Amino acid sequence: MISARSVSKRFGSGTHAVHALDDVSVDIFQNEFFTMLGPSGCGKTTLLRLIGGFEQTTAGEIALEGRVLNDLPPFKRPINTVFQSYALFPHLTVRQNITFGLEMQNISRHDASKRADEMLELVRLSQFGDRQPSQLSGGQQQRIALARALAPAPKVLLLDEPLSALDLKLRKEMQIELKRLQTETGITFVFVTHDQEEALAMSDRIAVMKSGKILQIGTPRDIYETPTHRFVADFIGDSNFLQGDIKQNGAHAVLALPGGQNVSLANVETGIHLSQSATIGIRPERLILHPAGTHNTALRGKIADVVYFGTDTTYHITIDDQTALLARVQNRDGSTMAFAKGNNVDITLPAGAIRVLVD
Ligand code: ATP
Repeated sequence: MISARSVSKRFGSGTHAVHALDDVSVDIFQNEFFTMLGPSGCGKTTLLRLIGGFEQTTAGEIALEGRVLNDLPPFKRPINTVFQSYALFPHLTVRQNITFGLEMQNISRHDASKRADEMLELVRLSQFGDRQPSQLSGGQQQRIALARALAPAPKVLLLDEPLSALDLKLRKEMQIELKRLQTETGITFVFVTHDQEEALAMSDRIAVMKSGKILQIGTPRDIYETPTHRFVADFIGDSNFLQGDIKQNGAHAVLALPGGQNVSLANVETGIHLSQSATIGIRPERLILHPAGTHNTALRGKIADVVYFGTDTTYHITIDDQTALLARVQNRDGSTMAFAKGNNVDITLPAGAIRVLVD
């Protein structure tokens, strides 16, 4: 549906130039909920604005269904946008807010009104058509903004942090609502957020961005289970990182930690070329803890802290002066905690859970 090819965007020039996007390529498919996720300033809004036509690329091309868009102004693109500040017209009723854009497109008043009713039904606010925006809650206003943006049946809807002004509970409800709207309308949604949970909950695929580049594109599960970069593993969910030197090669490779212990990398899919030093990542819920002295080849550690969270318990474990790990263990049967502060433990890292990461 959308294809960005080697897109760069620079603001300003000379020593004050900001390279907001640096050689970004991405394909966004028809019908998908695609999310651009990254910290403030990584360039996600810039990429969205380039797709919408609000900015011009410095280099590269953006195409919609194979047609290069670079010179097409925003209003000629079959693309609509919902911003964080939903900017409803305060002096118009809810229904007029929705029909306004349609009438501008020379759709008859009768057809526009019919379409507005459909849209109000879609966002489940049929009974609110005659109200003023000021008589609606924040969540309701945002749903009207969505109804307005969906009314002309765009091929693509761009959403720039549309939920960030809402409180947590409403935001969670709207996440489900947005996903439902996308599925029911079949419109391609391109969503921008810095909230990893939001991205995981709604997206078909996520592009993780850092400093004007896309580091990884994948399904929420891909991104969480198989991060390629340390940054990705760190930004999405919790991760342990172990840094050390690679000793031996191939099937017998081990990561030698600074304190002298080794982590076997046998059967670990490395993906990248292992050089002299490497970083591996493993999610806290994938560590397996055993009583000390029961597992010969395991890492040895000491429990430094135990934090009870109801559904699970998090153990802070010291391995050596420079290495600490988090282990998260589910509390399945409500029984007392298996390990206490000060206990020594053996820790096994399943090969299938270890990721060798680009630093
Ligand atoms: P946020 O989550 O804070 O909105 P973002 O990831 O959306 O961040 P962008 O808004 O795309 O980031 O900005 C990327 C970089 O480009 C930032 O360093 C920003 O300061 C800069 N930038 C964006 N717009 C302009 C502009 N019009 N003029 C100059 N610099 C800009």
